[in-house]
Amino acid sequence: MSLDRIKGQDAAVGVLGAALRGGRVPHALLFAGPAGVGKATSAFEVAKAILCRKGKAEPCETCPSCRRVESRTHSDLYILAPPRERASIVIDDVRALSASLYESPMEGMRKVAVIDPADALTEEAQNSLLKTLEEPPEDTTIILAAVNTDALLPTVRSRCRRVDFVRIPDDAVERFLVESGVGKDRAAQIARVADGSFGAALALADGALLAARREAIPAVLGARRGGEDALAEAIMAGAAPKGKRKLKDIREDALGIATILESVVVDCIRVKTGSGIRANTDLADEIKAFAGRRDFEALTALEKTVSDGIIMLGYFADVRLVVTGIVGAFSRFNAADETQIEVIQ
Ligand SMILES: [Zn+2]
Repeated sequence: MSLDRIKGQDAAVGVLGAALRGGRVPHALLFAGPAGVGKATSAFEVAKAILCRKGKAEPCETCPSCRRVESRTHSDLYILAPPRERASIVIDDVRALSASLYESPMEGMRKVAVIDPADALTEEAQNSLLKTLEEPPEDTTIILAAVNTDALLPTVRSRCRRVDFVRIPDDAVERFLVESGVGKDRAAQIARVADGSFGAALALADGALLAARREAIPAVLGARRGGEDALAEAIMAGAAPKGKRKLKDIREDALGIATILESVVVDCIRVKTGSGIRANTDLADEIKAFAGRRDFEALTALEKTVSDGIIMLGYFADVRLVVTGIVGAFSRFNAADETQIEVIQ
């Protein structure tokens, strides 16, 4: 079936496949797991199987319904995401969705709603959604996808059947890259940096970003207050020297950059804990120097900021602002470091 397209998520695919084959798909599903590991792709594959005109557990991939899910134009498929101008999904968005879900299906027998990222729902919006989850329309499946499930109300979580998506093992990411035509050595290096995310791995496999990494990492490690905007701009430009890019590509570039920076901070933490550099062995000197400046707590706080940035890249409209924010976290880290030295002197 089409869920076979999802790599490295055997447990999630197993649960979903069994539910589809048994005709027992819950009214509400919560796909939980890191960014770039196949949650959204899986949601649309489940939608395709549910809406397929052949009515089997596996979508036929050829009927008009399957094709319309593939192109995201099916009139019984509702997709809820934050609009470009704001970072959250608000109550009016949920009310409009719920109203549609209580109507009869337009094309077939069923309806599917995909809310991604569900962690962008405001609390008010979640309370509104709760009413629909408590009295689900008979013929409807609602799929929520979220990186940070703690952002969801316990009452919302408890109404959904949770399906966990995991970080992909390095060797699976490497195999996937080799199958996509990336050389073996390069694939191994990318897999270590991508940290279990196919999305980040694909962005990194684009040669420009990997090449830009050698300049970007030392520049960000040395970031100073006031220079964040220019530095973020330079990194984004270095990741995509081919000129004008679509928003989707820019978002992928940004995810690649943020993932690289996260891998650097994780390497710094590994230096602190004595477990050694894993992803960025070629930049060992820079990483050891950076790690030596501050304590373990400061590094873990920095890691949290970068990983929060990665979550925001999934939905926040202004991608450059998120990259600038991440660069700013490094410059604040360095500024605090200077203050510390002044105090000591
Ligand atoms: Zn079909």
